[in-house]
Amino acid sequence: QDDVPHVFVVFGASGDLAKKKIYPTLWWLFKDGLLPRQTYFVGYARSDLTVQAVRDKSTQYMKLQDDEKDKFEEFWKMNSYVKGSYTERTDFEHLNQEINTLPKGDLAHRLFYLALPPTVFKDVSSNVRLCCMGHEGWSRIIVEKPFGRDSESSADLSQHLSKLFREDQIYRIDHYLGKEMVQNLMVLRFGNKMFSPLWHRDHVQCVVITFKEPFGTMGRGGYFDESGIIRDVMQNHLMQILSLVAMEKPASTSAEDIRDEKVKVLKCMPPLELQNVVVGQYTGDPQGEGDAKNGYLDDKTVPKGSVTPTFASAVVFVKTERWDGVPFIMKCGKALNERKAEVRIQFKDVPGDIFGGQCKRNELVIRVQPQEAVYCKMMVKAPGMNINPEESELDLSYGARYKGVKMPDAYERLILDVFCGAQLHFVRSDELREAWRIFTPLLHKLEKDKIKPAPYKYGSRGPQEADDLARKFGFIFSGTYKWTKPQL
Ligand code: NAP
Ligand code: NAP
Repeated sequence: QDDVPHVFVVFGASGDLAKKKIYPTLWWLFKDGLLPRQTYFVGYARSDLTVQAVRDKSTQYMKLQDDEKDKFEEFWKMNSYVKGSYTERTDFEHLNQEINTLPKGDLAHRLFYLALPPTVFKDVSSNVRLCCMGHEGWSRIIVEKPFGRDSESSADLSQHLSKLFREDQIYRIDHYLGKEMVQNLMVLRFGNKMFSPLWHRDHVQCVVITFKEPFGTMGRGGYFDESGIIRDVMQNHLMQILSLVAMEKPASTSAEDIRDEKVKVLKCMPPLELQNVVVGQYTGDPQGEGDAKNGYLDDKTVPKGSVTPTFASAVVFVKTERWDGVPFIMKCGKALNERKAEVRIQFKDVPGDIFGGQCKRNELVIRVQPQEAVYCKMMVKAPGMNINPEESELDLSYGARYKGVKMPDAYERLILDVFCGAQLHFVRSDELREAWRIFTPLLHKLEKDKIKPAPYKYGSRGPQEADDLARKFGFIFSGTYKWTKPQL
């Protein structure tokens, strides 16, 4: 195995994702000695570039240390660049020849990363299949979202890919699946006896899954406007988290066993209904600074009068014996008050209250970003002579508990997984189909009826209607909990 080379081809090597994420990630994996010994990197795009040009564009994102300069040179020596179209077969034959000229290139394992706009996915995947597949070694293809924009277009893409590659060769990236705390859900849930009995409709009032970003589209809203926040964040990232929170215990930790359980959750979810959804769009804050003064519609690249949501809150149900009737509240938005991604499980009130209504609901919070943490909001006796209950917490802050431990970036884990052939943290085609089934009727209705999003101010928590929706489904925000940051 060790002497079989690996060739990693980056299609769209001239692009934004390539320079900001893919090349830096390849460098980090290379310098940490995590890649197979002989790994070659081939950039491919239509632009007339050189390895030096790719290097110049991506170096600023690579966090290069002074003592890594020799290693850095070594890394770039393993790189080459091929210029070619995405449509012409002869260009891919040329790429294949280039791969074959690398040492033992004809025997190499091949990884193809499609860092390209979806308009060229089909051409490129067809041409890879026709001209560039490994002869002796395996071939794997990595695709980036968007995986279609509704059930129909996604099925079309999936069918296309399935004609060319087996499912075990296709790696659909949802980078949330590469995040430490998302991966942690499995261990928290199934490695602890104390959580499993509570993880149930008898005890859980609601589950809130949140993604918040503190900035708007900053002049790049044109691309965002074609998708909107529901496609950009909710249908993929939040649904992936939801299925990991709601799934039954898998038969093993193998990729197929886990993905089978995730699909079952999605299959038990009816399509989203408009009455259970709030959409919003941010407006400028006249008192704000810089970009905060601009609303979404002030972004010149956004079509005039666009009704694309930059915020959405949606309540969904999982009709299983475990979860029937428990609202799963998903919230996501741009230009909000903070950066945050979390899962919040709010438990029911304690029945038979003996403390005169002083107790607040328990909450278990798994914070995905920033500053990974797991904490449980709970009642304790206020220290002192009385026996009055007081809100406190059991708190596992990763920064304090795991001081100095480097948390790998999501892309590092995921790209390494592709080398290893581990598909656990990638989206299988049936998961994708089910997620689109749940969202497509809503997305079509929003677009067909041009439903006007509720305005919310840049830097706020989103539209009031979203809090009203959560309250209607039983979520209680008491506003009384105070957290004291421990001294690190
Ligand atoms: P990009 O910079 O717009 O495009 C990548 C490369 O594709 C470009 O350098 C260009 O290369 C080629 N290209 C651009 N438009 C094209 C067109 N209309 N027809 C043919 N080729 C075209 O895209 P990106 O931001 O790197 O993203 C790549 C993929 O990753 C997309 O699917 C995107 O949705 C996804 N993604 C991106 C990010 C991110 O942070 N950027 C995050 C998550 C997912 P040449 O002209 O040199 O051939
Ligand atoms: P919080 O930020 O107070 O939010 C609690 C929940 O209530 C969220 O779902 C939030 O929604 C919602 N909410 C907030 N304001 C609301 C309002 N006015 N009306 C209706 N709903 C509202 O979080 P918390 O868990 O109670 O913790 C309080 C603070 O302590 C947070 O800053 C937290 O990061 C910090 N803390 C940190 C750690 C740690 O790092 N280890 C441990 C414990 C607590 P949105 O998410 O949509 O705003």
